[in-house]
Amino acid sequence: MAAPVTTSTEHVIAGQQRGGSERIEVVNPATEEVIASVPAGTRADVDDAVAAAAAAQPAWADTPLADRIAVVRALAGELGARGSEIAATITAEMGSPITFAQKVQAGLPASTSAGLADLLEAGYAFEERIGNSLVVREPVGVVGAITPWNYPLHQVVNKVAPALVAGNTVVLKPSEIAPLSAGIFADILDRIGLPAGVFNLVHGTGDVVGAALSAHEGIDMISFTGSTRAGKLVAKSAADTVKKVALELGGKSANVLLDDADFGKAVKLGLANCYINGGQTCTALTRMLVPAARHDEIVELAVAAAAKYAVGDPTDPGTRVGPMSSAAQRERVLGYYRTGASEGADVVLGGAEAEGLPDRGAYVAPTIFAGVRPEMTIANEEIFGPALSIMPYADEEDAARIANATVYGLAGGVSSADPDRALAFARRLRTGQVDVNGGAFNPVAPFGGYRQSGIGRELGRYGLEEFTEVKSIQL
Ligand code: NAD
Repeated sequence: MAAPVTTSTEHVIAGQQRGGSERIEVVNPATEEVIASVPAGTRADVDDAVAAAAAAQPAWADTPLADRIAVVRALAGELGARGSEIAATITAEMGSPITFAQKVQAGLPASTSAGLADLLEAGYAFEERIGNSLVVREPVGVVGAITPWNYPLHQVVNKVAPALVAGNTVVLKPSEIAPLSAGIFADILDRIGLPAGVFNLVHGTGDVVGAALSAHEGIDMISFTGSTRAGKLVAKSAADTVKKVALELGGKSANVLLDDADFGKAVKLGLANCYINGGQTCTALTRMLVPAARHDEIVELAVAAAAKYAVGDPTDPGTRVGPMSSAAQRERVLGYYRTGASEGADVVLGGAEAEGLPDRGAYVAPTIFAGVRPEMTIANEEIFGPALSIMPYADEEDAARIANATVYGLAGGVSSADPDRALAFARRLRTGQVDVNGGAFNPVAPFGGYRQSGIGRELGRYGLEEFTEVKSIQL
């Protein structure tokens, strides 16, 4: 398959492209072919990018707000116009099925940046009066952004668009597994006419470029999305310079079906939420908590609903589950499938030994574990593959206890025929977002986690304010 690499794969530092002799290969997880390579950035590349961002920051912060808003508006337009190219690139770099990639991987960054431009054009105020004080929101300075591979462009836009419009300059390190859509993003900002140094892109590994950014004295804020493991390392290395830290980390989210729920509907919606993007979604509702007396009936409904999730070529518009993002991710998922079975979960669909998968590519079988107990590994750790764990609970108290019993607190779901009962239960979940009866994702509502799912919020007004410092001026 021809590589859909249409833009630069190099670093962008101070408005110039820069290569590097050591390269990181980008592998299409469906075909196992190398489709491109990016430079393995060094500490020196990071130093240069941070220096460029620092030099550009004062003038950028002084640029009229209307001009900065115009950049975000133009970004939204360009992301929309180049949606097909973006979707094809993301499908090639990490295997997201093309129909989903068009709608979400490419569509969401266009709509979140348009939502941000709307908020600002509607007159969002960076200042307010509190008594005798004028309270002003100012840029933090130079922002380091580190992003993962699962929604590779969405995560980039969530950080860079609000950071820029608030008057910060940025050094971005995208995932080394799926770095190509970030190249398109850099190309768009260049075409929009962003001054040199305002946005810089350094490719490379987390251990080298990510660690250098987190520890760098010239970076004022680090905004990280990725695993809780790496997020802890980022927070530790950021501590020496007391820089501002925003973390969007992992989750193990519970979807609680209360006993009066419409199980047919709730199971279908819950399974869809768990399996989208091959289960490689931080907010995936991976634990389905069900009344113990109805467990077996719900398992049957789930297995029947899963029949629609055939695994296949991600470039086929009919495919709903593509390969995992990489061979390493496939091995990680299969490891959890084996652990689930060995700890006594009932593998009612798929599993590590499932047959009938394509011969080539990082494919795993959509899987359902039944009878999962809270102490099992698969009830506590992110699998990050198409795997649903069905867990019985005794009563509503027990359901709330199990739902809140992991170290995470990212998302949750609750279904009930009674909206008031569902809302009351939603308030008991210690998570940053909860969907009631399949409530739709809101791209301008605050997004983030409690506990080990993170610190801070992205999207909309809350996401914008994350990239500001607050000053009180007493008059
Ligand atoms: P990862 O933590 O391995 O990598 C994420 C990014 O961090 C990559 O760019 C990587 O190079 C970098 N990195 C790795 N080690 C680093 C270090 N020591 N210092 C600095 N940077 C480092 O995660 P991943 O495998 O790319 O993504 C999957 C994870 O991301 C999942 O755990 C998922 O839940 C999480 N995630 C969270 C959200 C959210 O908003 N909460 C969104 C998407 C993904």
